[in-house]
Amino acid sequence: MHGLIMDHQLLVADIVRHVERFHGDTEVVSRLPDDGGRIHRCTYADVAARARRVANVLDTLAVAPQTTVGTLAWNTHRHLELYYGVSSARRVLHTVNPRLFPEQIIWIINHAEDQVLFFDECFAPLVDGIAPQCKTVKHWVAMTTADKLPTMKNVQPLSYEELLAAASDQYEWPSFDEREAASLCYTSGTTGNPKGVLYSHRSTILHAMAACLPDVMCLTARDVVLPVVPMFHVNGWGTPYACGMMGAKLVLPGAGLDGASLYELFESERVTFSAGVPTVWLGLMQHLQKHKLKFTTQWRSTVGGSACPPALMKTFRDDYGVRIGHAWGMSEMSPLGTYGSLKNHHLSLPKDEQFAVEIKQGRPIFGVDLKIVDETGAELPRDGKAFGDIHVKGPWVVSGYYKLDNDPTIDGWFPTGDVGTLDPDGFLQITDRSKDVIKSGGEWISSIDLENVAMAHPAVQEAAVIGVHHPKWDERPLLIIVKKPGQETSRDELLGHFTGKIAKWWTPDDVVFVPEIPHTATGKISKLQLRQQFKEHKLPTA
Ligand code: AMP
Repeated sequence: MHGLIMDHQLLVADIVRHVERFHGDTEVVSRLPDDGGRIHRCTYADVAARARRVANVLDTLAVAPQTTVGTLAWNTHRHLELYYGVSSARRVLHTVNPRLFPEQIIWIINHAEDQVLFFDECFAPLVDGIAPQCKTVKHWVAMTTADKLPTMKNVQPLSYEELLAAASDQYEWPSFDEREAASLCYTSGTTGNPKGVLYSHRSTILHAMAACLPDVMCLTARDVVLPVVPMFHVNGWGTPYACGMMGAKLVLPGAGLDGASLYELFESERVTFSAGVPTVWLGLMQHLQKHKLKFTTQWRSTVGGSACPPALMKTFRDDYGVRIGHAWGMSEMSPLGTYGSLKNHHLSLPKDEQFAVEIKQGRPIFGVDLKIVDETGAELPRDGKAFGDIHVKGPWVVSGYYKLDNDPTIDGWFPTGDVGTLDPDGFLQITDRSKDVIKSGGEWISSIDLENVAMAHPAVQEAAVIGVHHPKWDERPLLIIVKKPGQETSRDELLGHFTGKIAKWWTPDDVVFVPEIPHTATGKISKLQLRQQFKEHKLPTA
């Protein structure tokens, strides 16, 4: 017997309709990349009306339903209009990461077969370089006014503002199957070609609702949200949709992701919630420390994308009163999988024991099921000690990659490629990507644990640990350090710093100091590059 409930399809257009009707006067603030960082103010009602104009523009440009529309853009109200307008008009929004190499961008755009590409004017040189090789793109739209259109060699750009001004703000959002695709993101695979994850309307809505939950981002209509995470990185972690659902004020930082620009926005817009990768918070922290600044507002944040060094969480908590919630996920999970909120029984623990729980990557959000397995696929105990491969499933977890035939799942579970432990409360602790784990004498050493210890040293700005070949142990850890400007330390002092903090045999065999550590396009330490760079490194213990 079926329930007698409306069979309403969950569509991105529902968010647009809701936010316009019930939070129409709530502000959306943007720092404009095409206007020297000028602050632009509008409301959700404006965004919704302009999203309808976007839909009319797509019709005029003859972009067929269910085809892809690319963006190369920072976080602004215009990008939000595309988020809402493209998907609601039954096209697929393909957010391209401009930090990738041009060859990767070309590959991705061709693979996705983008019909139109909307780009921020600052990316004009990039677009000019790639355009001749992007055969499917019929129109290149610069997200700026007609008077600021960039002069380009290979492209005759259209002006976003001109197109919108000429289009009607009336559009009837179509109704269709919620399982149709809403957006597309490519994973920045460290090997092989990037893989496309195609999110459905249904998965997008369910994921965004889950993101709002109190034990997750806890978003409300009273919040002022500044997503530092770019909208080209896994749906901006769901914030563009979640904020619309809740009617939270949005503050979109454009290209200004440096400490000074962020601090200014946090203060001037009275931000209450933010989200970003650890490197961003490191940058902000350095700015605060250098200029002896404090916040006059109370805010909280989500950190994810790579392991957050506990020292960073502690500094934000103790020195700035900012609670950082640690989240874990991936493109294949829309991205949220786990979130670090305490349970009731943790509240009676001493502060340092609570903190030991908070620095883990959190526990599964309802909707995501999670298990750890050994090499044979057998489930390992949730004892906080056994570590194995993390498998997940749920309504916003990938079931296959775009235009790839092979099924990535195993018995209905998606193997994440991450390795970790699960404790009896369900808290996950990521020890590594499976290919980054250091295999020493048949045992595993967690590079993340070692990096966390190193990051707590006062002279360390950034730390990375990789396994390098060792004739006896197969691999041993090498610690790679960027020192804080003006700070000194030595190999022996750093190695001494590990004493008592980890099992003795985990202590790195050597330390190298470098001016900088390479990062990937999504802000993660590029272990692949480091492994190549230090392939020939001779350990003193070898
Ligand atoms: P992406 O698909 O680019 O979002 O990358 C996802 C990968 O980032 C995951 O598979 C993890 O290896 C890593 N990651 C994400 N969040 C965390 C976290 N909180 N701690 C450790 N690693 C993380």
